[in-house]
Amino acid sequence: MTRTLMPIRTLRGFRDLLPDYMEDFRWVESRVRSVFERAGYREVLTPTVEPFELYEEKEGEQVEQSMFVFEDKGGRRVALRPELTASVARLFASTMGELKLPVKWYYVANMFRYEEPQKMRYREFWQAGAELIGASTPESDAEIVALGWDSMREVGLGDGAFIRLNNVMIVRGMLDSWGVPRDVQERVLTWMDKLGKVSESEVEAGISELIGRDRTRELLGLAELEGKDPSELESLVERYPKSREALENLELVYEAVKAVGIRVRITPALVRGLAYYTGTVFEVFVENVPYALGGGGRYDNLIAEYGGPSTPATGLSLGLDRIVEAVRERGIRGPRSRDGVYIAVVSEDLRVRAFALAQRLRYEGIRSDFELRGGRSLSKQAEYADKLGWRFVIFLGRREVEKGVYVVKDLESWEQHEVPEAELVNFLKSKLTSSL
Ligand code: AMP
Repeated sequence: MTRTLMPIRTLRGFRDLLPDYMEDFRWVESRVRSVFERAGYREVLTPTVEPFELYEEKEGEQVEQSMFVFEDKGGRRVALRPELTASVARLFASTMGELKLPVKWYYVANMFRYEEPQKMRYREFWQAGAELIGASTPESDAEIVALGWDSMREVGLGDGAFIRLNNVMIVRGMLDSWGVPRDVQERVLTWMDKLGKVSESEVEAGISELIGRDRTRELLGLAELEGKDPSELESLVERYPKSREALENLELVYEAVKAVGIRVRITPALVRGLAYYTGTVFEVFVENVPYALGGGGRYDNLIAEYGGPSTPATGLSLGLDRIVEAVRERGIRGPRSRDGVYIAVVSEDLRVRAFALAQRLRYEGIRSDFELRGGRSLSKQAEYADKLGWRFVIFLGRREVEKGVYVVKDLESWEQHEVPEAELVNFLKSKLTSSL
């Protein structure tokens, strides 16, 4: 049976990533890793597929609704990880207090969310995150915020970067005082998380349905204090003991991050989409970029919920795809410089010689390639080398092989050099900046 072959595309919200992009991606990744490692974090990796129960009721409505959930062949309900904090908390809980505290772990991994694809919102995306487990001091939250800030600086986005900071217990404290049950609180928070994404009147209507108009107004009054000093929130929360306590904590975190030069903006309506936060919450922004590049917060109950010893924890995750996009849009890495050596052959029978020479150069740490296709003129070979960004072309002919002298053309300056065999490696090394 014959059938017409249709091109098979990637699934909606999934991407193929090409070499130019991947070079920027790996560069951003390595910069962020070095920020984490300099602060004493060590890498962990957990499974891509987890039991569904790991996330059930812990993530909050938004993340849960957008999870990739399916049955495996053994009839178990499993999920592709939508984030990694839950796995890290589970992993920590399973060590049952054997580790010295605080534990500092980081990860770089792909996440999956079945969301409506839109600009910079994918169904598979990458996060680099750090978790600080076993410390509840304001300075531990401040350090986690600093990891986000330092990452922005490290990739060249420091100028426009700023942090939105809040403590989610300010809002929760108000809801608790009003006796709003936990499940309704989650829905209120989901609405608040939509502030700035949908119209304020829509958010107001959504929350009013849950807790009434007056309380909604009071709650949303917080949003108006954006960018103010935390002390200006005092009068709003004085009737709510838990909110007061949260505000005091927020002030300490705020002072600590400001003291190390981090640009920070108090955002009293910031609650974040995840349900497990119990204190500090924050998001990383860059001016003129309409979405968050990262976010995080404190989750003091999660480890105990996974059966571990009650342990305070705080963490962040950065959206690598969004950071790479911002870096590329701003041309931060500049044009790539030419590198390496391409060996073109004058006649087909010299290909095996070209292969041997390429291998020799590779063993010397010099990036090199040779003509593999055959049947191409010298000028076509040179054109290919030029397009792919090679710095030098060696034209390998019978005369060169017999005389032991190579004709090396510099595609940057268009100069041509005759280099004796014995000097070739040193000549190339002296001209090429990068060695592998
Ligand atoms: P979250 O903890 O959900 O706020 O995610 C942390 C960071 O991951 C966000 O600030 C984004 O930069 C990134 N992120 C979250 N969801 C997506 C997505 N669907 N596509 C691309 N990046 C995302």
